[in-house]
Amino acid sequence: MREFEQYIDGRFEKGQATFESIDPATQKPWALMPRAGAQDVDRAVRAAWRAFADPQWTGLTATQRGKLLFRLADLLEQAVPDLAELETRDTGKIIRETRAQIAYIAEYYRYYGGLADKMDGRYVAIDKADTEAYQQREPIGVVAAIVPWNSQLFLAAVKLAPALAAGCTVVLKASEDGPAPLLAFARFVHEAGFPPGVVSILTGFGEDCGKALTSHPLVSRIAFTGGPETARHIVRNSADNLAYLTLELGGKSPVVVFPDADLDSTVNAIISGIFAATGQSCVAGSRLLAHRDILPALLDRLSERAKTIRIGPPDVMQTEFGPLATDRQRRHIVDLIARSLAAGATLVTGGQVPPGFETGFYFEPTILLCDDPQTPCLREEFFGPVLSVLPFEDEADAIANANDTPFGLASGLFTRDLARAKRVTARLRAGIVWVNTYRMISPLMPFGGFGLSGLGREGGSEAILDYMRTKSVWVRT
Ligand code: NAD
Repeated sequence: MREFEQYIDGRFEKGQATFESIDPATQKPWALMPRAGAQDVDRAVRAAWRAFADPQWTGLTATQRGKLLFRLADLLEQAVPDLAELETRDTGKIIRETRAQIAYIAEYYRYYGGLADKMDGRYVAIDKADTEAYQQREPIGVVAAIVPWNSQLFLAAVKLAPALAAGCTVVLKASEDGPAPLLAFARFVHEAGFPPGVVSILTGFGEDCGKALTSHPLVSRIAFTGGPETARHIVRNSADNLAYLTLELGGKSPVVVFPDADLDSTVNAIISGIFAATGQSCVAGSRLLAHRDILPALLDRLSERAKTIRIGPPDVMQTEFGPLATDRQRRHIVDLIARSLAAGATLVTGGQVPPGFETGFYFEPTILLCDDPQTPCLREEFFGPVLSVLPFEDEADAIANANDTPFGLASGLFTRDLARAKRVTARLRAGIVWVNTYRMISPLMPFGGFGLSGLGREGGSEAILDYMRTKSVWVRT
């Protein structure tokens, strides 16, 4: 069995404890992962603390830090096929998605590499005699970054790239589910030339490794992506170190379709919005709110498309839809569907393990029709390939239903009427609004949610400020 190593203080090491990683397509263990405990975390954080004061890192100019990030981007780009294969093997995400996504991640390292030397301070025309004053920006310190199992390389990049550009040091905890691509990525961090301790990458379980990291007294910022329940633990853990927090959490994102929408492109966007990554995406467009007049036509097309999605092994290029990442995930989906059907939802399509795919954590693309906004499938996150549909009567009804959720990550809006699009956009309680499109991302645009979807934003130029703090300097002349 292949054995992966953790990367602490510039050294690769086998874990003193290990655990087996399961291939979601075969249900067989395929690799041994190092299981970091509190002592490993402490070593990594102390190394990051030392590196934060070490001239090898602090002596670099911001331009030099930017160049290290450019080099990392180049190395990552060359490694796309290998890293994509590892992510596909360890999480079941289909190879055509892992390749495309990892290739784009390099742009995040380039974007923040380019920003590194553009974070000017400010001279202040101070209202005191014989005094000069300025505001100086400094890196915040040691960052604890924690990611979930879906899109680990991407979710790590949106934390690592601005943190390193700002001059911070980072201890990154990969998820215990599917950590292979991030552990392998450590090779490129090393090769790019970041000094020892500037980045450490390890994996372990939430209750020991995650807890030790987020409550560590030397951590100044926590950047977390995961579920809201875990976020609550982290907020409690961080009562010990009072670290700044960025929380990117779950979603129950509405896709609102008005009767004047272009149905062909809308259907494409809805299908990829919910079924890409087998629905295991925080921005999955999981609630379809459709005007009552177009609902029958829309549902016909959607169920036709859902039935013809090519399910298959994730490592085959033709496959459009692979297994879920874990059996736990599948059991959660089965349970939430059962509770929703019991509460009155109707199964339009799917809802089963696909015939011929009894081995592996496969589950069919599924559509549920509801007429009660309180149906569990409209309220709880599946984090899986289930679209829950609810009709609406008019614009006010659509907005009320879209906002009827404690989450507020993404939303989609389909209409040819741009005046309506602007009106509705202003009233949607969500961090992202996609109009006549879905799932677009770019390092140039902030990403984050309202309500239970989280605190703060990742992406965009301002995210680098999360990793800096201001020092006010007064000089008597
Ligand atoms: P999770 O919250 O169970 O785990 C996420 C990470 O937190 C893992 O690395 C885990 O080991 C760690 N963790 C668990 N308990 C911890 C603790 N007590 N202290 C510190 N760390 C702990 O989430 P998951 O099941 O891996 O991922 C699915 C969730 O992530 C969904 O809710 C999804 O919507 C969300 N997500 C959000 C975004 C976003 O950008 N908003 C992106 C992807 C996923």
